[in-house]
Amino acid sequence: MSTPVTPEVIVEKRTIVGEGSLWDAEQQVLYWIDILSHELYVYDPATGDNRTIPTAQAVGTVVKRASGGLVLALHNGFAFLDLDTERITPIADPERDIPANRFNDGKCDPAGRFWAGTMEFNGEPDAGALYCLDAKGEVTEKLRPVAISNGIVWTADAKTMYYICTRANTVRAFDYDIDTGDISNERVVVTNQGEGGFDGMSIDAEGKLWVAVFGGWAVRRYDPDTGNLLQEVKLPFERVTSCAFGGKNLDELYVTSAVVGLDDAALVDQPQAGSLVKIDPGVQGVPAFSYAG
Ligand code: ZN
Repeated sequence: MSTPVTPEVIVEKRTIVGEGSLWDAEQQVLYWIDILSHELYVYDPATGDNRTIPTAQAVGTVVKRASGGLVLALHNGFAFLDLDTERITPIADPERDIPANRFNDGKCDPAGRFWAGTMEFNGEPDAGALYCLDAKGEVTEKLRPVAISNGIVWTADAKTMYYICTRANTVRAFDYDIDTGDISNERVVVTNQGEGGFDGMSIDAEGKLWVAVFGGWAVRRYDPDTGNLLQEVKLPFERVTSCAFGGKNLDELYVTSAVVGLDDAALVDQPQAGSLVKIDPGVQGVPAFSYAG
């Protein structure tokens, strides 16, 4: 069940908090970010190029916009990014009056709404909330309080949403209404019984959850129906932050990590910490959804 692997290093980099990995199946590129370096990256496996786009403020996550370009969840709220001009255009900031908070992880739902949550910069308990940006550009608060809003995915039948707050260290499930975006019937489906804290999350074609474990040296595969740990892929770095299925057949797993808080000795012991790496998950993922607005 526990498999130590030597990941393939794709982009060697000491990101402070590498995060937000997302595969673009149309363009065949991977978007990822360094939250605290204020940078968005576009990695192209065909050329090996890793383009850097400055975001000028903390960037929590990135999604695709169906009509072109990207949407970011920034320190100062949701914003469009034009990939040609690199211009950033604000959409909405539900926490304009809380400068100590920034946006963190988020993804689009099957109807093209963009869900992302916030956290206080140091992860203070109960300081954040989970928000949903609809296709009209309106923001709704969906869940409060949370501490470190993180991974979020939906099932293939679009009836269930899974969500992680790292401080809670669980995966919660909600009944999800694709027509209204309403969530209900909250329950805990996975509890972390090992090291570290649950961070980013992806779902595979079998409906199983892949959870990046910050401080857990691993990506873990869980069965949300039983809560059971199915597989643990051990990595040679401690602070694993996000994972995304990519490649032509969505059968490669890209993994990001962080060096924030690692001392000099740990940095020497973990030469790949902060880099973008790839592992073989042995299963296919599902394509990511884009923002419809
Ligand atoms: Zn995260």
